[in-house]
Amino acid sequence: MKPAAVVGAGTMGNGIAHVMAQAGAEVQLVDLSSELLDRGMATIAKNMERQVKKARMTAEQRDASLARIHPSTDIGAVGGAALIVEAVTETPEVKFEVFGAIDAAAENGAILATNTSSISITEIAAATGRPERVIGMHFMNPVPMMPLVEIIRGLQTSDETVATVAETAKALGKTPVEVNDYPGFVSNRVIMPMINEACFCVMEGVAEPEAVDDVMKLGMNHPMGPLALADLIGLDVCLHILNVLHEGLGDDKYRPCPLLRKMVAAGRLGRKSGRGFHDYS
Ligand code: NAD
Repeated sequence: MKPAAVVGAGTMGNGIAHVMAQAGAEVQLVDLSSELLDRGMATIAKNMERQVKKARMTAEQRDASLARIHPSTDIGAVGGAALIVEAVTETPEVKFEVFGAIDAAAENGAILATNTSSISITEIAAATGRPERVIGMHFMNPVPMMPLVEIIRGLQTSDETVATVAETAKALGKTPVEVNDYPGFVSNRVIMPMINEACFCVMEGVAEPEAVDDVMKLGMNHPMGPLALADLIGLDVCLHILNVLHEGLGDDKYRPCPLLRKMVAAGRLGRKSGRGFHDYS
């Protein structure tokens, strides 16, 4: 694999760097401080160790993979990469600024991909001078485990960029699925209304959260109920994405459930706060 870079060493960024290094790429990993980079590297080492224990990787492969990841606080480090994947905080202003900086530092031919869950690829591309080489590369959490990469084509993304990124996803052992740039893409446009409807079921007293999740697990063969999934994603993140769908598509069928709003206002954000629809204390 050609040299790559990942900007943002958080939940998604460290997972993306992990799979790239495992596939043989030299990876520059950029974040704002050495503490954040240390935390990202420690997570990668821990997750690779788990793979070694499960005999999915040898100790030598782990050491070689870790040695291919080069942490840096300098955005200029993306300079030698053929593919740069951005996985910073999901705030439009932050993304646009980071993309401006990546565009300035990257080689002319480099592809700039974003892991955004909800921001328009076309708008992010407009913050650069190379919209034809900007694309959505939406990995799923946890990255080393989940096979899908949703590849999102912005209005100006070239066929060549789509083909290169799809090939790269395959080289990472993932399955690329191509979609067009509309609010929520396919993944969140389909899953978020289901989560929202599950919230309405609880609000209207149709069933308790456990019952809603049991119906979907045992009756529909879902590995996890929609409310447990919402707790895992974070209720604040679900509310944010529903707002993006509601505003972007202008259809009231995406209006966020008032109970979801109330839980976010109360700080019941799911697993990360210890309590959401279910109790994790
Ligand atoms: P996170 O908060 O865990 O990590 C974001 C990282 O970006 C942090 O380490 C932060 O310090 C860093 N960062 C912020 N500004 C930066 C800058 N200017 N330069 C370099 N680094 C910077 O977030 P996450 O959950 O990893 O999400 C990252 C992206 O992935 C978001 O766009 C999110 O929507 C998307 N996403 C998240 C999930 C998920 O389940 N968490 C799933 C799919 C997609």
